[in-house]
Amino acid sequence: MKPRLKYQNVFNKILSVLCAFACVSSYPAIADEFHQSLIDSPSYIATVVIFVGVLVIMGWAIISLRRSRQHLRHSQQLLKSTLEGSGDILWDWNIVTGEVVRINDERHSQPTRVEAHTFPPNRARIHPQDLPTVESLIRAHLAQKTVFFEASYRMLDEQGQWRWVLDRGKVVEKNAQLQPVRMTGTVKDIHDIKTTEQRLNLFATCVENLTDAMVIYDSEFNLIDTNPAFTQLFGLSRAHHHGHPFSLPGHTVQRSDAIKKSIAQAHHVQHELNMPVITGQTLCMELGIDKVLDQEGNVEYYIMVFSDLSERKNAEQALNDLSNQDSLTRLANRNQFFADLDVLMEKDNQHAVLVMDLDNFKKINDSLGHQLGDKLLIKLAQRLVERKRSQDSFYRLGGDEFALVMRGTNDIHTITATSKEFLKTIATPFRMLGHELAITASIGIVLSPEDGMTPQVLLKNADTAMYHAKQQGNRYLFFNDAMNHAAVKRLQIENLMRFGLKKDHFEVFYQPKMDIKTGEIAGMEALVRFITPKKGLISPGVFIPIAEETGQIIEIGEVVLRKACADVKKWRDMGLFNQRVAVNLSAKQFALADLTLRIDTILTQTQLPASALELEITEGTVMDNPEHAIAIMHALVDKGIHLAMDDFGTGYSSLSYLKRFPLHTLKIDRAFIVDMENERGKNMVDSIITMAQNLGLHVVAEGVEEIEQLQQLQKLGCETMQGYYYSKPLSSEQFEAFLSKHIKDKSQGQHLSLVQ
Ligand code: C2E
Ligand code: CA
Ligand code: CA
Repeated sequence: MKPRLKYQNVFNKILSVLCAFACVSSYPAIADEFHQSLIDSPSYIATVVIFVGVLVIMGWAIISLRRSRQHLRHSQQLLKSTLEGSGDILWDWNIVTGEVVRINDERHSQPTRVEAHTFPPNRARIHPQDLPTVESLIRAHLAQKTVFFEASYRMLDEQGQWRWVLDRGKVVEKNAQLQPVRMTGTVKDIHDIKTTEQRLNLFATCVENLTDAMVIYDSEFNLIDTNPAFTQLFGLSRAHHHGHPFSLPGHTVQRSDAIKKSIAQAHHVQHELNMPVITGQTLCMELGIDKVLDQEGNVEYYIMVFSDLSERKNAEQALNDLSNQDSLTRLANRNQFFADLDVLMEKDNQHAVLVMDLDNFKKINDSLGHQLGDKLLIKLAQRLVERKRSQDSFYRLGGDEFALVMRGTNDIHTITATSKEFLKTIATPFRMLGHELAITASIGIVLSPEDGMTPQVLLKNADTAMYHAKQQGNRYLFFNDAMNHAAVKRLQIENLMRFGLKKDHFEVFYQPKMDIKTGEIAGMEALVRFITPKKGLISPGVFIPIAEETGQIIEIGEVVLRKACADVKKWRDMGLFNQRVAVNLSAKQFALADLTLRIDTILTQTQLPASALELEITEGTVMDNPEHAIAIMHALVDKGIHLAMDDFGTGYSSLSYLKRFPLHTLKIDRAFIVDMENERGKNMVDSIITMAQNLGLHVVAEGVEEIEQLQQLQKLGCETMQGYYYSKPLSSEQFEAFLSKHIKDKSQGQHLSLVQ
């Protein structure tokens, strides 16, 4: 429709409406008249034109108003949905009244109005740490120092959580004095962005401070960026490196290419490299390469990290040294010995293993202290290492045991010469802290592969050979099968003893000690007997040395002591026996820290008075550490126990010590008694007896078998004898019978001197 036509229509319509209005509101006649008068009036046309003009303008204004209202409503709707969509809060602050209108506040769907009397108006919801900044930023804006107010801070949300927001605003109205009176703005939730930003910052800081050198390459392996550690390690500035193609310092182009290729098929690769660094050192480094892919899965970046492995390597080395090196002598240790021998035995040529053990080292250690002992071992190790051939290896297996592995040798002459050389070197005295220390050693030798197919068997056999060498004293011995038999037998006996202790196979026999002059019982000695169901009686000469070595003697010794004390207590109670029972005490028992307590316990359990007990100890037992021994002996004597020096003359006890030992009895060893058939032997026994008497000691002659021996002993003034001549060791039943008979004989006056 054309505009003019449109207006005519509108005009007519309006006219009709007005007429209709007049018609309905008045009389039809009046209306009619009115209509007619209007038409008839001369100014009718002008009036109509003005009227219509007014109407048109009014209509136009109404339409425009309606349109702009619609538009406004639409804009408001748009703004509202945009705001709602953005989640931003719109605020309008009347600075003068403090009224704040908030739209889209998460708490309210409708705009809210509050009277805020704080500055800033939402002060209560701002994080205390951020408040000062927010305050100063608003003040700066209100003072017109900034065009906008903009602050990011933590704001308390509905759930009472702090969330990062970005608050932006602007003064929109000022008063006549140009003072701001109204300010509007938005609050945007930037919590996620902010936390991501914080994380990124953290990552960036980490990368910057990383001790590992980090470098980023693009997909073409051109350097994009490095961290400070990279430039510190490899020199030059960050800018200098930028754009450089990948190449490894100190490595060939081929090597660098190979590394580039290695990442092609993987997401992550690792390489261990030696890298020259700015300090001039070459460091062992681990290079880790990772790919960063874009959304399509194409390589965007390569991230390379160089980690210095030196410290780790050093620690590994230290750990390795610790487990494979003897900390005292710095020699390779037992672990290394087995490992090396394992490798060596894989190769088919022949080798020799020499195991050497110092003979009297314990004595040095005990008498001069462990510190000096340690120094001695260090010096000895240094000496011996110098003596070995360059292809051979020297080890400390533990304590005072060393091993030499002679590589590719089975030549007896070479091995023998080396053994002699080593023994000589060891025997050359050491001068230390004013002491001249002489030590000797024994060497056991095995050949690989004939003496054992594994390092373990080889060492075991070398130990066996060494054990035999030691028994023969300060020499070297090659391993042979007979030794092995002996070793197997030893092992069998060890097992038998273990079983025998459990099954109570240890019995005690008693051998009387007789007063030579009166024929009275002077005492008796308890002697252990090992009676096995299968092998019958095993001699103490066979099992005692093994029990001493394995330590089983401690348990066996206690069994003997307990049984002997119980038997004697019984015989005392029966009135059969009133003398002492002598029990042998081994060196191992003597060395027990709680020896006196153990003895006390047995005496208490069996209710035997201490005065009825005598302990026989050998020179070897006390001479290892005489000062310590004296203290223990005094502790025993103080309890009322008697002490006898057994096998006297076979050991090395010096007279000066003998004087200081709180002994009661001295037992002359059987070897001297046997020797009495010649003049020299007789003189020897004579001097022992004289010396003992001078020291106020009671003398017992052991192993007396012949009447001649007895006669001689009596002449020399020996009071007591023990031996087959009078009685063999007897079982407890036999001994009880012997005691009864003795009393009976005595009652019949039959007790006379043993020598008629
Ligand atoms: P020992 O303490 O010198 O004991 C004396 C040894 O001489 C005993 O040998 C005894 O039977 C033997 N004997 C006694 N009179 C004669 C004789 O006239 N002629 C000969 N040829 N031998 C005689 P046994 O019982 O075989 O004990 C041997 C060694 O075993 C003992 O020598 C002692 O050192 C040790 N022994 C025995 N029983 C024990 C014990 O209960 N504990 C400890 N630690 N050692 C013991
Ligand atoms: Ca004895
Ligand atoms: Ca003896």
